[in-house]
Amino acid sequence: MQLQIRNLSKTYSNGVVALDNISLTIPSGMFGLLGPNGAGKSTLMRTLATLQECDSGAVFFGELDVLDEKDEIRRLLGYLPQDFGLYPKVTAYELLDHFAVLKGLANRARRREIVDGLLQQTNLFDVRHQRLGGFSGGMRQRFGIAQALLGDPKLIIVDEPTAGLDPQERVRFHNLLSDIGDERTVLLSTHIVSDVADLCANMAIINKGHLLLHGPTQQLIDDI
Ligand code: ADP
Ligand code: ADP
Repeated sequence: MQLQIRNLSKTYSNGVVALDNISLTIPSGMFGLLGPNGAGKSTLMRTLATLQECDSGAVFFGELDVLDEKDEIRRLLGYLPQDFGLYPKVTAYELLDHFAVLKGLANRARRREIVDGLLQQTNLFDVRHQRLGGFSGGMRQRFGIAQALLGDPKLIIVDEPTAGLDPQERVRFHNLLSDIGDERTVLLSTHIVSDVADLCANMAIINKGHLLLHGPTQQLIDDI
């Protein structure tokens, strides 16, 4: 389903204009939002994830008014923030199972099936009984994706997921993302060009709250 952003603006109380009248249509599949640090990516991601208010503008996911119907959109949304805390003393299985309960998966057997499936999909099944505190950066990010995938969301928002990953972990993470992007709308924010070039059919570039370019990735990269 298509995500339509119309005239979105946000100025923080310190006067920083983080989003300046952004209008952008994001088709289904993987979409890359590329921009340097401070461009406004996280502000946009948090706004789309209904975690932060903007000053003006509208967002539609299909027919759904995202900024107005927050409960509805949260049911369809998987969000992986840039910095997410993990409880260091619980195991991957325990925490994912806990989030599954919060998502309303009451049936124990069904929950186990779903949690095991997600752990397999993210290559964490073999370490599912290890504590999260011992996880590497790459394992943490893959766990974040497993968490974001709970409830089979139609819209997935991942904010700078590859920052700090070494090249090998980045390749693994790319493979995982390209697997989940098929039937969904996945919005990936990053300052790393190869994240977008490797994964995203379409992209936009923002800087200082302005939308600079958007279109098919290949075309934009050829033009740069
Ligand atoms: P708003 O304008 O949305 O009310 P605030 O300026 O009150 O936002 O800040 C909200 C939170 O963001 C505060 O906890 C603040 O510490 C934090 N914050 C302030 N400046 C920055 C910044 N430049 N980058 C990231 N976070 C910031
Ligand atoms: P990016 O994710 O691309 O690094 P952000 O959306 O985090 O960009 O930040 C955009 C701009 O808004 C930056 O100048 C940042 O310092 C500022 N900013 C972000 N959050 C806040 C906040 N809560 N209060 C004040 N300024 C903020």
